[in-house]
Amino acid sequence: MSAITLKNIVKKYGDGYAAVNDVSLEIADGEFVILVGPSGCGKSTLLRMIVGLEDITSGELLIADDLVNDKAPRDRDLAMVFQNYALYPHLTVFENIAFPLRLTKGELSEQEITERVRRASSLLELDEHLDRKPANLSGGQRQRVAMGRAIVREARAFLFDEPLSNLDAKLRGQMRTEIARMQRTLGTTTVYVTHDQTEALTLGDRVAVLRKGVLQQVASPRSLYEQP
Ligand code: ADP
Ligand code: ADP
Repeated sequence: MSAITLKNIVKKYGDGYAAVNDVSLEIADGEFVILVGPSGCGKSTLLRMIVGLEDITSGELLIADDLVNDKAPRDRDLAMVFQNYALYPHLTVFENIAFPLRLTKGELSEQEITERVRRASSLLELDEHLDRKPANLSGGQRQRVAMGRAIVREARAFLFDEPLSNLDAKLRGQMRTEIARMQRTLGTTTVYVTHDQTEALTLGDRVAVLRKGVLQQVASPRSLYEQP
């Protein structure tokens, strides 16, 4: 089954320039797709349309074969991880991770919330830090909290917007391993924007190359980066 389907997606901003121009792509259930391309080519715009933070000018967006063009972000059942984490400084790690579950008030018991937060924090090795505030965490730990917040929702798919670009090289390597492990454990469909070739090579099932809003190529990482 297709998890996310883009059919001739176009995004025009006020000045009429097509930031995303006729993009079609079918992402299979459990697939990890890397989106690459130069700055300004439309990667963020595409992610934001998928998650529902930006209107689609034309084309069709399907999630699990459901047309979602007009659905609010919360009704799309996707989890996005931003580059700058966007953690709440006054909340503990536990409450930061639990936050999206509290927004769906009344639907989950306190016990279920606690269990989900513990599952996520165990997967991300954050168990010992649940009572701390973001200010007292390292950059890598903060990024893991941001991922924990995406995991607890048990959403249909993850969308990552350059999640590791603010980390130093060593941490990036560690987090890359962690994301790969998370993917093996959870098997969640993922769209992942990055500039980093190593991330594209090691994490992606397929790499989609965007240029000036146009999808130029979709291929396996090897065929893209290791051709002579
Ligand atoms: P990327 O994420 O690949 O760097 P973006 O999706 O941020 O690219 O931007 C794609 C193009 O759309 C750029 O030319 C950018 O200037 C333009 N753009 C992005 N957001 C807006 C906006 N809110 N209004 C007008 N133009 C925008
Ligand atoms: P990113 O590529 O990481 O989204 P940007 O600095 O390109 O970062 O964009 C930051 C914000 O400004 C985004 O919300 C984007 O939609 C908006 N933006 C980008 N380009 C333009 C533009 N030309 N006109 C208006 N808003 C823009």
